[in-house]
Amino acid sequence: FISIENVVKTFGAFTAIDGISLGIGQGEFFSLLGPSGCGKSTLLRMLAGFETPDSGRILLDGADVTEIPAHRRPTNMMFQSYALFPHLTVRKNIAFGLVQDRVDRAEIGKRIAEVAEKLHLEPMLERKPAQLSGGQRQRVALARALVKRPKVLLLDEPLGALDKNLRLQTQHELVRLQKELGLTFIIVTHDQHEAMTVSSRIAIMKQGKVLQIGTPEAVYETPASRYVAKFLGETN
Ligand code: ATP
Ligand code: MG
Repeated sequence: FISIENVVKTFGAFTAIDGISLGIGQGEFFSLLGPSGCGKSTLLRMLAGFETPDSGRILLDGADVTEIPAHRRPTNMMFQSYALFPHLTVRKNIAFGLVQDRVDRAEIGKRIAEVAEKLHLEPMLERKPAQLSGGQRQRVALARALVKRPKVLLLDEPLGALDKNLRLQTQHELVRLQKELGLTFIIVTHDQHEAMTVSSRIAIMKQGKVLQIGTPEAVYETPASRYVAKFLGETN
């Protein structure tokens, strides 16, 4: 379904992604886990088609991401900072991408109602982001990504800005949502426990490389290296 083949990405003399190959199946909850600067966001941005590999390629359903026009890509991304428009209501924030894609108004209304129900946003649709809590803003950002009905949702540290309790609660929400919608989720995190809790499989990264891929149980019970064992054993 998703095939990452020998991907290399450099920024000047610095190699951010150093030859990564991996496959992700439809309906997986896949986590990219690793320390700060290991290349997680860079890999996610290439999956979204926002950046192009220097060599290697990324195939989605057999098509090279960089050759699919932006509005037809089956991926959509939720950013770490949420990137909500402060001057627009929640409703307009969620509608923004659909308006740009020239989806008709009745259809936009229908889709917003659907996604607002799934994410419990109905009472807040006419508010602005500043009038929401952090957790509510996170749900708006998620709604905005889902309303375009992607097959693959890319989430860059989606829970990074939440406090610990809300984070745990939201982890379970994400898992519920992913099962309910049957989408592929690819999530970036540097939190080992989070990756263990939510994922069907995890790729552990270090300095632009993937060290190990497997189910949470497999990587935890049989770490491929001392580094992996140590990283998984650390607490945040
Ligand atoms: P974090 O957990 O801190 O978000 P990350 O694993 O997401 O880290 P990336 O953002 O993918 O890391 O960055 C990987 C490396 O590539 C970093 O050293 C970063 O400084 C570098 N890098 C990323 N984007 C650029 C860019 N546009 N120009 C130059 N260097 C970049
Ligand atoms: Mg990052």
